Amino acid sequence: MAADVVDCDVAIIGYGPVGATLAGLLAGRGVRTLVIDREVDIYPLPRAAHVDHEIMRIMQELGCADEMLAGMRPNPGMDFLTADHEVLLSMRSPGLTSLGWPASVFINQPLFERQLREAVSRLGATTLLGSGVAAIDSSEAAMYEHADRVQLTLDDGSIVTARYVVGCDGARSFTRRTLGIGSHDLEFEEPWLVVDMLINDADSGLPEFALQVCDPARPHTLVPMPAPRFRFEFMLLPGEDPVAMQTPEAVAELTAGWLPAGAATVERSAVYTFHGLITTRWRSGRVLLAGDAAHQTPPFLGQGMCSGMRDAANLAWKLHAVLRGADEALLDTYQQEREPAVRSIVQAAVDFGRIICTLDPAQAAARDEAMLAARASAAEVQDTSEGVPMAPLTGSLVTAGGGRPSYQPTLAGRRLDDLVGPRWLAITRCAAGEDGAWWTQRGALVLGADEHPELVALLDAAVAPDGIVADAVVVRPDRYVLGGAPTLQHLAAIAEPFLPPV
Ligand SMILES: Cc1cc2nc3c(=O)[nH]c(=O)nc-3n(C[C@H](O)[C@H](O)[C@H](O)COP(=O)(O)OP(=O)(O)OC[C@H]3O[C@@H](n4cnc5c(N)ncnc54)[C@H](O)[C@@H]3O)c2cc1C
Repeated sequence: MAADVVDCDVAIIGYGPVGATLAGLLAGRGVRTLVIDREVDIYPLPRAAHVDHEIMRIMQELGCADEMLAGMRPNPGMDFLTADHEVLLSMRSPGLTSLGWPASVFINQPLFERQLREAVSRLGATTLLGSGVAAIDSSEAAMYEHADRVQLTLDDGSIVTARYVVGCDGARSFTRRTLGIGSHDLEFEEPWLVVDMLINDADSGLPEFALQVCDPARPHTLVPMPAPRFRFEFMLLPGEDPVAMQTPEAVAELTAGWLPAGAATVERSAVYTFHGLITTRWRSGRVLLAGDAAHQTPPFLGQGMCSGMRDAANLAWKLHAVLRGADEALLDTYQQEREPAVRSIVQAAVDFGRIICTLDPAQAAARDEAMLAARASAAEVQDTSEGVPMAPLTGSLVTAGGGRPSYQPTLAGRRLDDLVGPRWLAITRCAAGEDGAWWTQRGALVLGADEHPELVALLDAAVAPDGIVADAVVVRPDRYVLGGAPTLQHLAAIAEPFLPPV
């Protein structure tokens, strides 16, 4: 191999939030990880404003969640309003979820990404910033020349070789285009103006929770970010000029109904066309896609980046296991598990978007009538205290009672995940015996609910195949429950084909 070639186990193209998360999770497992980005600094324009409890849990693994939480703003819920501000739909999520974190928190993305990058560097990933990837060669010739490695050529001519490459290079993904992979279009395309304001007066009277104002004259969204920031998003109407709509005068006019003149200044603004897209193939041999490179969603549920970070958590432990000798078929379960889950959340966001983006007054009136009637006949407030409902994972790596994130109790003052680390967790109702030894040999932590009664709820939440409450539960390294069963032995049979050799 030539001297100027940089070699690693996993090369990540793109140091956005998804690439950074994957880099941290891999480096934390001891994988030699290199992240490449053509930009040195984080993206400067307004994008993500919200993350959920699962993302906080991933940040916990990276060691930065508590520090991040201090700069965030817990989100108590979201209301959908008519043009006259009558409530169409109300969702509330107070307190902590069973995952140990608030269901929803508002973030300032630049601060969030800075803290994330600091954590990634503490965990020991190498970064190569300021030069983009110009070519990806995973041909047989390249693999032969570089001993089973994909070759990347950077803009400055330098060469990187890696056993696996993950394209986390965003919506216009160079990796996806190089692999010639197309997308399913969920046929949603709307232009929105996004404005982050700096509010002068803490007592501004702005709402404490997110609002979706379904006004056919101008659909708009309000997002209370960490003080002193506040986000407004306005749908652009046909024929409006995106540049003219970003002037301070235009923004002052748009926000006039919510803020008196001079109460705030524009920090940053951008016009985006919101899409719903899902890439058809997320893996081609040793090259994989994650985050916006694999899927894009309109931001009405604040789930684009969250979905990408879930991709990273799903992929990190699988890449680590394959690098330690597990069957490469484990990597096929990545798209099998993530695509249906992403599809359901993108579809939900598109459906919400269609509700919100109605410009026809007659259609809007019919929508309001139907939603008000639905609200009158059901609970006035929808309880989302366990977060926005997500589809469970399906496929060969989950079984009955599995497919969802596990509860995270506190054991003797320590959060469960901090105790487990990036390992498998096997839990039994009583002492585990020999079945437990099988898991211990494979690096898992084995705990009994007889010694740790806080784990009983976790066992009770998983139902065994015969419908009887499970006496054994296994949690995967990404904190998703593999399943519940009468004994750990039943669960070993499911996991064994995917584990590295002992
Ligand atoms: C208005 C708006 C609001 C949003 N709100 C939310 C929200 O509240 N919650 C949420 O979860 N999501 C939200 N999202 C979505 C979220 O911003 C994106 O899903 C997220 O930023 C995608 O992260 P990523 O790391 O996949 O890609 P990106 O952040 O786009 O990062 C890709 C990186 O790859 C680099 N790159 C590209 N090509 C190359 C190359 N050839 N070589 C090297 N580097 C390369 C780029 O420089 C970039 O740094 C919102 C989006 C918008 C537009």
